[in-house]
Amino acid sequence: MNRPTSPLLHDYKPSANPAREKFSALRWFAIGLGLPIIGLSIFIAFPAASGTGSIDSVSEPMIAVNEVTPVQVISAPLPFEPISIPDNLARGVGPTPKYEKVVLTIGRGDTMDELFRKNKLSVGDLVQIARLPDVAPHMRKLIPGDTFEIEHDEGRVMRLYHELDLTHSLIVTRGIGQFDAETIMRPTEIRQNVAHGRIESSLFESAAAAGMSDNLIMNLAGIFAWDVDFVLDIRAGDNYYILYEDIYQDGKYIKNGEILAAEFDNNGRTFQAIRFIDADGRADYYTADGHSVRKAFIRAPVDFSRISSNFNPRRRHPILNTIRAHQGVDYAAPSGTPIKAAGDGKIIHRGRKGGYGNTVILQHGGNITTLYAHMSNFAKNARLGQRVKQGDVIGFVGKSGLATAPHLHYEYRLNGTHRNPRTVPLPDADPIEARFKSEFLAKTKPVLEELERYKASQAEPQQVAAAKES
Ligand SMILES: [Zn+2]
Repeated sequence: MNRPTSPLLHDYKPSANPAREKFSALRWFAIGLGLPIIGLSIFIAFPAASGTGSIDSVSEPMIAVNEVTPVQVISAPLPFEPISIPDNLARGVGPTPKYEKVVLTIGRGDTMDELFRKNKLSVGDLVQIARLPDVAPHMRKLIPGDTFEIEHDEGRVMRLYHELDLTHSLIVTRGIGQFDAETIMRPTEIRQNVAHGRIESSLFESAAAAGMSDNLIMNLAGIFAWDVDFVLDIRAGDNYYILYEDIYQDGKYIKNGEILAAEFDNNGRTFQAIRFIDADGRADYYTADGHSVRKAFIRAPVDFSRISSNFNPRRRHPILNTIRAHQGVDYAAPSGTPIKAAGDGKIIHRGRKGGYGNTVILQHGGNITTLYAHMSNFAKNARLGQRVKQGDVIGFVGKSGLATAPHLHYEYRLNGTHRNPRTVPLPDADPIEARFKSEFLAKTKPVLEELERYKASQAEPQQVAAAKES
């Protein structure tokens, strides 16, 4: 079983360098959406530094600025002293920077050279710094959004601070006749947290109302993507409960960590998932009795995040009425929305197919085929005969063929017979290995009990509210 590659499911995606990848993802997230505190802090402290490739001099003194809006101390701490200083102490009592500070944010196509010149920083210093053995490798793999915080004396670089990943930072200081570089560790701490969402209009809105990050809700959706079609199944009144980890650094919240356990109550159906790491280090989500939550097919082969913002579960989806009439499911979605392979398989058709327009048909195991119609375009590597993994993008939503508006028409056939893709029983992925079963039950029981306790605690206020209303 392969894992989907959509960001929706990135939690599952194995990565050669998870720390770096996660952190850069976080940074994109922070910069793109300004959501986590980190992102916010960049905006607050260095208002113009978060754009693409913009440079902003933050003129001294920081202290005076801090006194006006003390929140800056909390979230944009002392670029060159990434040590923890209690907020109350830091406020107004922090060290006075001797030099002017500049934050360089790498934008698309930027070079350090250009950024230095634009900001009247010594390019000679840059050349020296970039040659340092501890610095050189990092200079070769800069990505947009990377920042360099530089303290300078009329362009002469005195100190440079650069976050390598969540737990490592690079500090370069001007020594006598040379620059010195050191990599420092920034340990993280994990705290457990809980969240409860109740859907009124959309999954995202319910998450925002409950104070959850988009990241957390996307991870949740990723966990239940095999059981719940987050485009068409969501109903007002659905509830979900999440037990998850938050990552802190120096006492400050950084981002959400893993979801430990979750429950999704969808339209009368209840789904639970518990994270388990086996002795081989493989982490995955299972039901309470050890079945994998993953299945050979995902319910909705479109990136739901592109759709759900417009989706109102109170309104009956006009297309639902026609499911049986035309033996497929239609997902109205903006043109260009990625379409994913519902399961592992082989491309047995790729091209125009009458009223279906641009169509891909996949052959899967168990004599199952899936069909994706009305595409605007095929994915580049979706060639006839090509093997695809579940979650691979095979094309993009469009309205080719007999379609009046952009949508994905999706069909599922078993032994040549159409089955409703939304209700057909799907084969499970492998359950927990027998040799891990007892350990699994022992370890997950308390986690599940905790989730149940939390769920019970959340039920009370609603009952009270209901009593009041009646
Ligand atoms: Zn259709």
